[in-house]
Order: sequence, then C-alpha cells, then structure tokens
Amino acid sequence: MKTLRFLYPDQLSNQISSLRDLDPKKDIILLCETLDWFTTVKHHKKKIVFILSSMRHFSETLKQKKWPVIYVKLNEEDNTGTIIGEIKRHLTSKFEKIITTEPSEHYSLIALKNLQNRLGIPIEIREDNRFLSTHQEFQEWSKSRKELRMEFFYRKMRHKYNVLVKNGLPEGGQWNYDAQNRKFPKNTLTIPKPHRVKPDSITEEVISIVQKYFDDHFGEIEPFYHGVTDIHAKQALVLFIQERLQYFGDYQDAMLLNEPWMFHSHLSGYINIGLLDPLECIQAAEKAYYSNLVSLNAAEGFIRQILGWREYIRGIYWLKMPSYQNSNYLKAKKPLPDFYWSGDTKLNCLKQCVNETKRNAYAHHIQRLMVLGNFALLTGIDPQYVNEWYWIVYIDAYQWVELPNVTGMILYADGGLLGSKPYAASGAYINKMSDYCKSCAYNVSEKNGKNACPFNYLYWNFMIQHEDKFKKNPRLNMVYSQLKKMDIERIEAIKKDTFEFLKELSNRENEPYEN
Ligand SMILES: Cc1cc2nc3c(=O)[nH]c(=O)nc-3n(C[C@H](O)[C@H](O)[C@H](O)COP(=O)(O)OP(=O)(O)OC[C@H]3O[C@@H](n4cnc5c(N)ncnc54)[C@H](O)[C@@H]3O)c2cc1C
Ligand code: SF4
Repeated sequence: MKTLRFLYPDQLSNQISSLRDLDPKKDIILLCETLDWFTTVKHHKKKIVFILSSMRHFSETLKQKKWPVIYVKLNEEDNTGTIIGEIKRHLTSKFEKIITTEPSEHYSLIALKNLQNRLGIPIEIREDNRFLSTHQEFQEWSKSRKELRMEFFYRKMRHKYNVLVKNGLPEGGQWNYDAQNRKFPKNTLTIPKPHRVKPDSITEEVISIVQKYFDDHFGEIEPFYHGVTDIHAKQALVLFIQERLQYFGDYQDAMLLNEPWMFHSHLSGYINIGLLDPLECIQAAEKAYYSNLVSLNAAEGFIRQILGWREYIRGIYWLKMPSYQNSNYLKAKKPLPDFYWSGDTKLNCLKQCVNETKRNAYAHHIQRLMVLGNFALLTGIDPQYVNEWYWIVYIDAYQWVELPNVTGMILYADGGLLGSKPYAASGAYINKMSDYCKSCAYNVSEKNGKNACPFNYLYWNFMIQHEDKFKKNPRLNMVYSQLKKMDIERIEAIKKDTFEFLKELSNRENEPYEN
C-alpha cells in the first residue's frame, strides 16, 4: 500500500513511529514549512531560525538515506501556508493512506481529526514513541491517585526504566536528592562556555528568510549559535555530561548576572523537536554516575527533570486538555506589563531575565519560575497572556509543555492540580539564589516604602488577597500564622505600597492595573 508519511515540524527524528515500516520504493515523506506553524503565536525569531534550519537539515539527511521526501519551503509559490492545506495539496490519488505520529499539541490533533472526517482515505495516527510514558499509562496512574504529584509518577518511571534503581530500591537509599541542590555559586567557580555551532549556508539562508518574513516578532536573531542537526544535539549532550553535569544539581537554582547558561544542559530545544532522544540523555547521566564522573545528587537531579517532570507535564496536558487552557482559579485578569517584551524595568531581576530571553530565546528554570513567573503570579496577570508570552519566547516552547508549567506551576491557575502550593516568594528568595539584588534600584532588605523591593510587599499582598483560598492549605500554615501576628499598620503599608506600585505600572502601561 502506498502511503504518505506526514511529519510535523517538531518530529525531526528518523526513529519516529510514523517512519517505522516505511517502504522507500512506494511511500513519500512530507515535511512542510508553513506560516501557520510560526504565527499561531508570534514565536521568537531565534526559535523560528532554529526550527526552519533544523527542518531543512533533517530533510537533507533523509535524502542522503535515499528516503523519498517532498520538502515544502516557506516561500514556495504554491505553499498554502497551513499544515492541513499542505497535506491536502500533496494527497494525490496514488496514495491509499496517510500515516503520521500524533501531533504534540491538542489543537493540531483536533485539526487532524477534522481532516480525517473530510478525506476519502484513512489517516493512521500513531503514538509518539519519543516520550517515555503513554497517554494510557498516565491515565491509569492518575485514576488510582487522590493527588497527582510528580514525585510518585517519577518513582514509577524510575522503576519502569530501571534507572538508578537496584533490586527495586533507589540508588543511595533516596528517590530524590533535591534538598542538596540549592547552593549558591562561589566566586571561584568557573562556568564552562556553552556548546556553540557556527551557522552554515542553510542556516544563513534561513536567517535572511526570518529577517524578511518575521521581522516584527520578538527577540534577537544574531548571533545565532544553536545546533541544528542530531549530530550537534549529541555533541551538546556529551559536552554537558563532561563539563556541566557535575555541578547541575548543586547550582540548579542559582542565578548570576550575565551568566544565562549556568550548569544547565540547554538540551530542551533539541529534545522537543526530535533531534535528541530523552532516554539517551537519561542513560548518559546514569552512566556518568556509575563511572564516578558525577555525584548522585547531580545525576538524579538531571534524570528527574526528564524522566519525571517532562513526562509528568505532558501527562497532565493530555489528561486535562482542552479545558485546562481556560483555567483561572485565582481569577487573575491584569494585562502583561510591556517590560516582559522590552526589558525596560527598574526591577533588576526581571530586567536581567527578560533581556537574556530576548537575546537567547532561553532562560533557565528558576529564572522562568521564581522571577518571571513569580512576578506574574503576585501581580495577578491573566493566565492567557502569560501562557502566550512563554509559548512565544523560548526555543523549547510548545503548548504541551509551556501550558502546564505556566497555568499549573507558576500561576496556580489550576487550583493546585499540579502543585500543592503556589510558588510565591518574596525578594529574600531571589536574593538568596542570585546576585541580582546587589545592583538593583530597590533594596531587598526593606519591606515597605518607596525603596523597598516590590516582591516583598507584593508577596504579602498576594497572601492577604487570596487568604480565603489558601489559609486552610497545610503547606501555608506558617505563612498565615505569620500574617496573623502582623500589626494593622504593616498590613495597611503592604496594601498601600502594592496599590501604588500597580498604579505606577498601570500609568506606564496605559492599562488598568489597580489592585
Ligand atoms: C513557567 C515555565 C515555563 C516553561 N516552559 C517550558 C517549555 O515551553 N518547554 C520546555 O521544554 N520546558 C519548559 N519549562 C521547563 C524548564 O524550565 C525547561 O525545560 C528548562 O529550563 C530548559 O532548559 P535546559 O534544557 O537547560 O534544562 P535543564 O535544567 O538542563 O533540565 C534538563 C531537562 O529536563 C526537562 N525539564 C526540566 N524541567 C521541566 C519541566 N518543568 N517541564 C518539562 N520539562 C522539563 C527539559 O527537557 C530539560 O532540557 C518551563 C518551566 C517554567 C517554570
Ligand atoms: S531587590 Fe527585589 S526587584 Fe531588585 S533584583 Fe532583588 S528581588 Fe528583584
């Protein structure tokens, strides 16, 4: 049977389920650059260069294998501009079936299923074998639980893949070594240079296309240094294991001025687009531990991110979509401040993180969570705007992964499905984990007043504002007993400072920001 094998732009793996049993003499692989993929939200320019160049390089490797490929370029005259349009355009009568791997996002799956109903030939949608857990597995796990906590799902995954497990028990006696992973870097520590790839002629061409078609999108294109092939992605993994993994755990939460990369792996973009296999990353870290190259807290910390968090986040997405995208438990409705785009703010931590995001299409987890996310939570920004921003700005962002991280992890908009308490923090946390406060216009030790760090009063205002929802949460007992002891003058000062801060933001933004 002659089949059309359709690949989505984030399915750049020749091991993917849709290419299994491909018959190169009869079948055709279809890979298309379509405008809809890059403008559903207006992605960061660097991210578009990364995706387009990776697609073009991937298509070259398929051709080298002598696999038949139709590759549609963005600026081709007949390009319909949509994924569905391109599938229909290339579906000539010689094909008896379409085979594809399930798209990673819910709205794409709906579009595909609608197409299926309209076409005269069958579409076989295969499970995405790049993930380590299936939808069915996650559903079954979730049915047997009162609370869907990542930690327990992670343990199940450790057993399933027998990773850092001996005779059914966790290596070293504990499942999770997170408590050891909160160090602040010493001045003497050298942070290795990140993996870099010089753009080749394909990437150079793509850069000029992105400059032409997506010039009004957020972010800086150049310098462009990301890898765009599976070989580059593997090199990045090897370098990470050799040079960074040892300190990954220790300094996972640390943030330093002008050090965007720290000891993180910078692999998410490659994994999410199909250039790197998540299991390969996990096994490389496990091997490094058993070869005495890295400590257990480092290896376990990294493995947990991929085998635990990444799979769990995807499980939540598919379990709860489509209603999940409309969650707004805290009824947050403020607009996104313009400085999320411009970086123009006196709050130094936010300025650093936005400017790095603009430059690199990357910020590490704690910057996304405890600075950018924390501010959005404390000031009550509407989850729709926050989700859109995160989806646009990061090289690794797809709805399946940004949505649970934003709606669940940072905004508590799902009412505690993903996290047992909101990740809210005052300036003290940012000061403990970074050196941002040293050069900030605000004073992190001042609690109230014009010079006080805004995170300090915004934090308490948030707890006061949502007391009805949080006061019975056992994990917030200490917070509410502290609040109870606060005198009325302090509470009034918190409310007044918050009101004035939000009013000033509102004047700058020309949008309603009142508390
Ligand atoms: C608000 C918010 C939004 C996020 N949006 C995205 C996103 O759109 N795409 C994305 O891949 N990750 C997202 N993350 C998760 C995490 O921040 C990034 O995966 C990580 O920063 C990528 O950098 P890295 O490769 O250097 O990761 P490392 O710190 O080196 O971690 C290793 C790997 O673990 C995985 N991982 C770690 N944490 C998570 C997580 N919470 N969810 C899913 N995978 C995880 C990633 O594949 C990552 O490459 C988000 C986190 C937050 C708090
Ligand atoms: S003082 Fe406050 S606003 Fe300034 S960098 Fe520190 S935490 Fe951020």
